[in-house]
Amino acid sequence: MNKLSRRDFLKVGAAGTSVVAVSALGFDTAQAKSIKQELRITNAKEVHSLCPYCAVGCSTLVYVSNDKILQIEGNPDSPINQGTLCPKGATNHQLALSSRRVTKPLYRAPQATEWKEVEWDFVLDKLARNVKDARDSSFVATDAAGNLVNRTEGIGFVGGAAFSNEEGYLSAKILRGLGLVYVEQQART
Ligand code: SF4
Repeated sequence: MNKLSRRDFLKVGAAGTSVVAVSALGFDTAQAKSIKQELRITNAKEVHSLCPYCAVGCSTLVYVSNDKILQIEGNPDSPINQGTLCPKGATNHQLALSSRRVTKPLYRAPQATEWKEVEWDFVLDKLARNVKDARDSSFVATDAAGNLVNRTEGIGFVGGAAFSNEEGYLSAKILRGLGLVYVEQQART
């Protein structure tokens, strides 16, 4: 590569794409044209999604090829994030690709010191049993003034920001139907 003086360097900055300046860096436009660079996401399917990390709800574009996620970036068409993602959101693909991702339910029994992998059927049965037991033991039909309240203060619910409108609606219906009072959602929907 040619030696670049301070003066040449400033010329490069001022001239931008000038052939003379680019040549000074050791290559020319003809050479640049001969290098065909292909984007990693060429021919990948573009899927619209949402960052699940916080209530801002930034829109994302997920590039998928052969059922594998290649890249996730901010959606420039979104009026919320306009193509940007914060540093946390920029790690979105780690949710799917991290080698440390938990892919099966883990259960630690009372008094146990280790987590063990269990099946979803076990988890769903256990959750249903615990909800029923907690509701039965904490259900209040009338308050101190005799008003009918039919509520349980023994269970709380916190939802995530990845909830869609429909999921939020459905969960609110189910939870209020059970009599929950303490229902919170990261996106406050
Ligand atoms: S990219 Fe950042 S600001 Fe946007 S939703 Fe995700 S965590 Fe929130």
